Amino acid sequence: MKESAFRKDTNHVISKRLVDKAKGTGKAIALEDLEGIASRTTARRADRSRLKGWSFHQLRQFVTYKAAFAGIPVIPVDPRDTSRASSECGHCEKRNGKSRDEFECRHCGFRCGADGNAARNIRDRAFVGMPNVGAVDAGLGTRPRLLASPAL
Ligand SMILES: [Zn+2]
Repeated sequence: MKESAFRKDTNHVISKRLVDKAKGTGKAIALEDLEGIASRTTARRADRSRLKGWSFHQLRQFVTYKAAFAGIPVIPVDPRDTSRASSECGHCEKRNGKSRDEFECRHCGFRCGADGNAARNIRDRAFVGMPNVGAVDAGLGTRPRLLASPAL
């Protein structure tokens, strides 16, 4: 299979799985709003390396139209510092990244997979940007029920 066909096929599988997971749960999907990030000189190395070599634009398109078809809200969030901010305490510094795959907060010691930490930040930002989530989850004492995925 041609590389581009393989990527397209994989993007279809990933987007379908994500939307299927959100379906019937009342969840929304949060996506980093990465339009223009490649041309932005401030794009961080970690962000660039996550973006390199994959058609995230296509994946976003697939997720967006499949979610729309299923009636699932998609919430774009600001992608800045999702990789280097601690999803536990919010502390943001360059050295937070232990390695490309691992996150460790210099402030609170929170440790997590780098993608997991970014996903938690994306979810929390979507929560802030979606006013009615507060009403839905009010009083439950739980984190917002959002599916987040870094760099889609
Ligand atoms: Zn922290």
